[in-house]
Amino acid sequence: MAARYRKLKEIPVEQRLVVRRSHIHGWGLFTLMPFAPNDMIVEYMGEKIRRCVADQREKKYEEMGLGSCYLFALDASTIIDATRAGGPARFINHCCGPNADAKVVAVDGVPKLVIVARRALAVGEEVTYDYKFEYENDKIACHCGAAKCRGSMN
Ligand SMILES: [Zn+2]
Repeated sequence: MAARYRKLKEIPVEQRLVVRRSHIHGWGLFTLMPFAPNDMIVEYMGEKIRRCVADQREKKYEEMGLGSCYLFALDASTIIDATRAGGPARFINHCCGPNADAKVVAVDGVPKLVIVARRALAVGEEVTYDYKFEYENDKIACHCGAAKCRGSMN
């Protein structure tokens, strides 16, 4: 994992990925180079905060209408908040049949949130992962276009 993480950091992110208009939703993240299965595509940057702080922010964000889609659990006590400082990974759209996964990996004992290729990705593909939102009665429509689209993100 540490070796793959170093490989990820060798090529500057602006040479690996680009933010463009997406047919799924708003802006999306697209590849500028091919990726092999299990390659790390990008690190999901953000502010590391404790779970109790994240719970307070989640309430605040919901009141502001921002939602909580940029809060990720790194481990039992640490949350990454990418709402304000997420780097290009925050532009990755949800897809019900995604080509990548968000995974927490330990690099030299430090947990990192990285987006890992589920299959080989060609140049120009939009990177997607399954947001795995919890089930709610208030549905958020999904326009991912996947053959197995569930129709909603939650
Ligand atoms: Zn979908």
